[in-house]
Order: sequence, then structure tokens, then C-alpha cells
Amino acid sequence: MKSYIDGLLLNLKRANPGQEVFIQASTEILYSLIPLLKRDERYVKNKILERILAPERTMMFRVVYMSDGGEPCVHTGYRIEFNSALGPYKGGLRFHPSVNLGVLKFLGFEQIFKNSLTGLNIGGAKGGANFDTKGKSDGEIMRFCQAFMLELHRLISSNTDVPAGDIGVGGREIGYMYGAYKKLTRRFDGALTGKGLSWGGSLARTEATGYGSVYFANEMLATRGDSLHGKICTISGAGNVAIYTAEKLYQMQAKPVTVSDSTGFIYDAEGIDVALLKKLKEQLRVGLCEYIKERPNAKFIPVSAYPAGRNGVWSVPCDAAFPSATQNELNLQDVKTLYANGCRMVCEGANMPSTLEAIDFMLAQKDFLFGPAKAANAGGVATSGLEMAQNAQMASWSFEEVDSKLREIMRHIFRTSYETSKEFGAEGNLVLGSNIAGFRRVADAMLDQGLV
Ligand code: GLU
Repeated sequence: MKSYIDGLLLNLKRANPGQEVFIQASTEILYSLIPLLKRDERYVKNKILERILAPERTMMFRVVYMSDGGEPCVHTGYRIEFNSALGPYKGGLRFHPSVNLGVLKFLGFEQIFKNSLTGLNIGGAKGGANFDTKGKSDGEIMRFCQAFMLELHRLISSNTDVPAGDIGVGGREIGYMYGAYKKLTRRFDGALTGKGLSWGGSLARTEATGYGSVYFANEMLATRGDSLHGKICTISGAGNVAIYTAEKLYQMQAKPVTVSDSTGFIYDAEGIDVALLKKLKEQLRVGLCEYIKERPNAKFIPVSAYPAGRNGVWSVPCDAAFPSATQNELNLQDVKTLYANGCRMVCEGANMPSTLEAIDFMLAQKDFLFGPAKAANAGGVATSGLEMAQNAQMASWSFEEVDSKLREIMRHIFRTSYETSKEFGAEGNLVLGSNIAGFRRVADAMLDQGLV
């Protein structure tokens, strides 16, 4: 079976040159499926792996808008409709200079399994553009979103493909895109999630990924008779996931002490001031160095103080770490440092933040808990699913109702992943458990639906 997977990956590399992160995500999933593939021959016989590795549809399009200075700006937009076996394509849009086909294919591929784990009827997709929202005026952001939607509107609707936010796409961008969608299609439907609360959005959607990640961490700790109470936690990132991870950690009586952005990181031994963080990042949209002006006891460590491309956050001693920024932000050296400094849990809020070597190290430590992204950060898309449900019935649920459903979904994801790890003789290995559980639900639906 291993040589079959080796062969698949070799072909995948040949057919997708330069898409390293897509190959990385595929490598992690494929090898962990071996115990299932050995037990049930239908998946190999029906070429489910070959089929699931190929997006059902990949769209690339030109996006042109006019800058404030009157200069035409040209970007590439994407939407990758990866798999619809379980429901309408669902997944976020990322606006970031690092976006390319390989990045979005890794994200779209991960999304299939993540969405499956939620237990909801949502397929997997991802999209975005190589556009940097940083330093752009509000008018430029609006014109870019409108230009992006000039193409995207053809692909989406409440029951075909439902995009949402990701890095660089928050409430403001969703608003501009929804306005353009409505104008172009004459439809007021739930074609996007993460909408404003007065026009179809769901309460608790903004908080959901961060809250969900903390609920997941709590479930992991409970298997060892432990809890978050009193734990010192480090967080990377300062976006939506990081902010609401910090907020929920306080509610669980833990103390978050770091956050980071592209300029550096904050170490606040007294605990991150979440209200200040929200003001800096959600309202003023400024760099983290501003934090210490209001919190003089905290430290700001600029990126220039640590090796290029690495995140200094991981050198801060903690009990638990929540990588909530971006892919491959946690490498083998980082997890070794974390472990040596006493950290005994990593719970992934970002998509694929840990390298394959870092994951292997974490899984090998018997006294270490590792919550993989597909499972741990599924709360965001799950709550997008709840937004779709509310839109379909023209209803708005209370914050408490959505939050309690989110908590129940995170419990379900944890239990399913844990039980599956046990079923395959690897109790507690949530990489294996979540990959097999996520894959099995999609693969069985694909088998039911024939060769399409
Ligand atoms: N971008 C988020 C994710 O990575 C949310 C996607 C969604 O809500 O559709 O899962």
C-alpha cells in the first residue's frame, strides 16, 4: 500500500510542478489513510484517491481595478471547486500576495476533509487573489472586490458554491463583494458567508474559528483529566482567528501572552489585552508595535530580531501553543524549542501551520497533545454552515444558540477523530483519526454517486 501512495505522490509532483504546499497537504493525508485503504479495498479499486486529488473544476481569471492614483492594477483571481460529494462547494477566499494556484489547491484540498468532519452537507473549495489589502485605501479595496466579483458571480449561489473569508478577507471585503454580487445577479441569497449581521450574517461567525479551536483544545485536555484552567498560552497571528482564540482562552481561565503580525510579535506577560488588540486590528488596522504605547509593560519584538521567515513567538515558554497565522509557521526546530520550554499541547488555528517534520515530532511525544488544523479550526466553516442554514429558513438564531451548536460540532469532531484513531489502533493520534474520518465520509458519498 505504501508503494501505491509513493507512486500517487510521484505522479502528483510531476503533474503539479511548483505546488509544494499542495504536495505537502496531500502527503500528510495520503499516508495516514493506509490503514483504511488496507481494510476496505473499494477505495483503491474505484480510484477514489486519484479522483479526490483532482479538483472538479479550477477557475483562474484576470482582475483589474484602478488605484487611487489612476493606475490600472492587474491581479489573478481563482476559485477552485474541489469536491462536491457532500454538498455545495464551501470555503474561503484569501487575498494575499503569496496566493498562487498551489497555495489555493492545498487549502481547497484540506477544506474537503475539514468540511466533512463538521458533519454538515458542505463540499470543499477555496479561492482568492494575489492581492495585498495592506496599505490600500477603502476605495481601492471596494473596487478590487467589485472587479473580483465581476467574474466570481457566475460561479456562486446559495446552493452551488458559497465562498467566505480567509486571510485578507473579513467583514469589509465580504460586504463589498456581496454588494457587487447582488447588483450583478439580482439575487439576495446566501451566496457568501461572513455577511453583516443586518443583511443575513450569523451571530458568532466572527468568533467561531478562534472559539472552536479553544473548545477543541479543551476536549483534548479532558482526555488527560486536564483543562485550560491556569494555562499560559502562546498565539501566533493577530487576525480574526488569533483575536477570538485569545478571547475564549480568558473565558476558560487560561492566559494568552503573545500575538504576532508581519512586523513582529507582542509578549505581554500580564496577558494580551484583547480589547486593545481588537481596536488595533479590527478598527485602526495598524501594526502591533502600537500595542506597547498603551501597554508599556509588554514587549514588542520586531521580525528583524529573529531569523527571516520564522516566528519568534515559539521561543516564549508556555503550556500550550495556538499557531493561528499561516501555513508552515511551525517547523521542527520550533516544536523542539516549545517542548524543551515545557509546552505540551499545540492546537492549530491556522491552515497547515506545522511542517510534516514538526507533526512527526509532536506525534512521537507520548506526553504531548496535537490538534490538527482540519479538526481544530473547523469551527469557522461549521458556523458558515449554520449561517447557510439560517439564510435558507430566513431566520436569525441568537448568539447563545449558534455558540452552543458550534461547541457541539467541535465536540463531535473531536469524538469522531478520537474514536477513529482508536478504531485503527492509534489511540489519540488525531492526524490519523481526523484524516480517516474526514476522508471516509466523502469517499463513501463518492462511491454512492458513481463516476462523475
Ligand atoms: N477560511 C475558513 C477556513 O479555512 C472559513 C471558510 C468558510 O467559512 O467557508 O475554513
